[in-house]
Amino acid sequence: MATGPVEVEASCAICGAPPFPECPHEGQRLELALNQAMERWEGYQRIRDWILNHARNQIITTFHALRSMRMEAHRNYLQTLPYYTLYHRYNGRPPLQPAQLQLIHSQIEQANTILQQGVDQDWRTSCLRYPEVLDYYFGLVEFGLPSDKAPAIREPRFGAPAKEGARKAVKERRESVDMGVKEQGRKARRRSRSRGGGGRTPPLPTVPMPGHYRRS
Ligand SMILES: [Zn+2]
Repeated sequence: MATGPVEVEASCAICGAPPFPECPHEGQRLELALNQAMERWEGYQRIRDWILNHARNQIITTFHALRSMRMEAHRNYLQTLPYYTLYHRYNGRPPLQPAQLQLIHSQIEQANTILQQGVDQDWRTSCLRYPEVLDYYFGLVEFGLPSDKAPAIREPRFGAPAKEGARKAVKERRESVDMGVKEQGRKARRRSRSRGGGGRTPPLPTVPMPGHYRRS
């Protein structure tokens, strides 16, 4: 009995296991490759550093302002203590009765404890704002994605820097189109196994990858 052509699914590119049931290796390796590619992308480091610097500066500046206010309130409070001026003028050894001296000591100590607790609280509160502050700066990042109709998307040339490759010699590109189509056709089928043929997911990178992508 004649049957039509059957599509043959490839075995796992990592361990060679049959396509069904699907093993997790390709997905894991793709995730890894994606993360590595993101770190190789210059924009990733720039965005990361920019956001980190601005968020950190913002948190620290706010904390310093809060701390200054605490310190000022603390100093003002000390001024209101009886004998404090005297205590200060005599560098902590004022000519006072032991009971008076003990009182001012304990008042200063208590004020110092409250100051420390306040500063700790300010720092904790400041640090808890990191998620909000990070979101804020992420929200200021502008980015653009090319249209699916852009030449660099319709006829990608891998191996050349994406932007230059897109602009350079159309003739050269033409030559690579045929190969590209074949390659994509194979990959598109390959994808269909796990993605239901959505066709929007990037093709699986060549495996094994580390050697191929290693920076020299
Ligand atoms: Zn596998």
